[in-house]
Amino acid sequence: MMFFENAARLGHESVHHFNDPKSGLKAIIAIHSTVLGPAGGGCRMWHYENEAEALTDALRLSRGMTYKNAMAGLPMGGGKAVILADPDNPPTDDLFLAFGRCVESLGGRYVTAEDVGVSVDNMRQVKQVTDFVAGLPPTGGHAGGDPSPWTADGVFLGLQAAAKHRLGSGSLRSLRVAVQGVGKVGYDLCRQLHDAGASLIICDVNQQNVARAQADFGAQAVAPEQIISQDADVLVPCALGAILDEQSIPQIRASIVAGAANNQLATEADGQRLRDRNILYVPDYVINGGGIISAAFEYMGDKSTDDVRAQIALIPERLSEIFASADKQQQPTNIVSDLMAERIVAAGASA
Ligand code: NAD
Repeated sequence: MMFFENAARLGHESVHHFNDPKSGLKAIIAIHSTVLGPAGGGCRMWHYENEAEALTDALRLSRGMTYKNAMAGLPMGGGKAVILADPDNPPTDDLFLAFGRCVESLGGRYVTAEDVGVSVDNMRQVKQVTDFVAGLPPTGGHAGGDPSPWTADGVFLGLQAAAKHRLGSGSLRSLRVAVQGVGKVGYDLCRQLHDAGASLIICDVNQQNVARAQADFGAQAVAPEQIISQDADVLVPCALGAILDEQSIPQIRASIVAGAANNQLATEADGQRLRDRNILYVPDYVINGGGIISAAFEYMGDKSTDDVRAQIALIPERLSEIFASADKQQQPTNIVSDLMAERIVAAGASA
C-alpha cells in the first residue's frame, strides 16, 4: 500500500514501522495529526491476516482519533499504534518494553494508552521506558486508570441526548435497549441502563459475559446474529466495528443507533442509508469520547476525576449540536460531525 497516496487522501502526517526481532515486536504507529497537540490514541494488539490489514487499521483508527479528540475538546491530535500479534507467541513484558522504546523514539509526537488486546499492566511496562503514555492506575483523585467506565458514562449521557432528540424525552425508563457486546464498556453501560429502568436485550460471543449480564440485570440474551433485528428502541453497538452496512441496516428496527464501538459505519455512505431509514445514528467517535478524555487528562497531569466528569458532561451538548445541524442541513449525522471536527482542527491550525 502506498503511503503518500493514502496520506494525500486521508491526511496523515507520518506512519512509522517498527521491528524488534529480539522481543518479536512488529508495530505500526500512525500519526494523523499533531495540529491540536501530541497525537493521542491507544495501542491495539490484534492478529491481522497480513501487514496491509494492520496498516489500514492504523490509518483508519488514527484519523478517527483526530476527530474524536477535536470533538472532545482536547488539546491533542490523533494517532494510533497497532501491534501485529503472533498467535503462536503470547506477548511478553519485553515486547511492551520494546514498544515503549518505539513510542519514546517519536519524542512525544505520539502518546499511547490501552486499546483492544492491551491491558493496564502492559502500559506499566511501557511507562518504564517512556513518559508518553496514559492509562496507568490513578493516584489520589487524579485522572487515570482504565478508561472503560468513563467511556460507558459518556455513552449513557449520549443515549439520553439521543432519546430526547428522537423520542421526545431524555428518560430511558421502559425503553428497550439492545446491546451488542457486554464486555468492559457494554457491561458497565448495562448497569447504568438497568438502574435507569431500561429493559435490556444483550448478546455476546463470550458466554460468561452473557451469563453475567443476565444474572446481574435480568437481561434477555439473544444470539449474536439476532441482535441487529431486535424489536428495540435503541441499538447499542459495544463490540465490533463496521457492523452498519448495506446488509445490516435494512434489518434494524430501532430508531436510534448509539454505542461505544469504534468505526461502526462500514463506509461513509452507510450514514446516509441510516438517515434514509429515519434512524438517528449517533457518531461513534463523539459519544465514545469519555475514555480518551480520562486518558488525555491523566497525561496532562494536573487534572482530577472531577475534571474528567465535567468534560464528559459536555458530550450530550456536542451531540445535540450535531443532531440540530443534521436536521437543518438535511444531512447524515456522520457527515455533519466530520465537518465539525475538521473545522475545529482547521481553526487550531490557523490559531
Ligand atoms: P471488550 O473487549 O471488553 O468488550 C467487547 C465485547 O464484545 C466482548 O465481551 C466480546 O466477547 C464481545 N464480542 C466480540 N465479537 C462479538 C460479536 N460478533 N457479537 C457480540 N459480541 C461480540 O471491549 P470494550 O473495551 O468494552 O470496547 C467495546 C468497543 O468499544 C470496542 O469496539 C472498542 O474499540 C470501543 N471503545 C472502547 C473504549 C474503552 O474505553 N474501552 C473507548 C472507546 C471505544
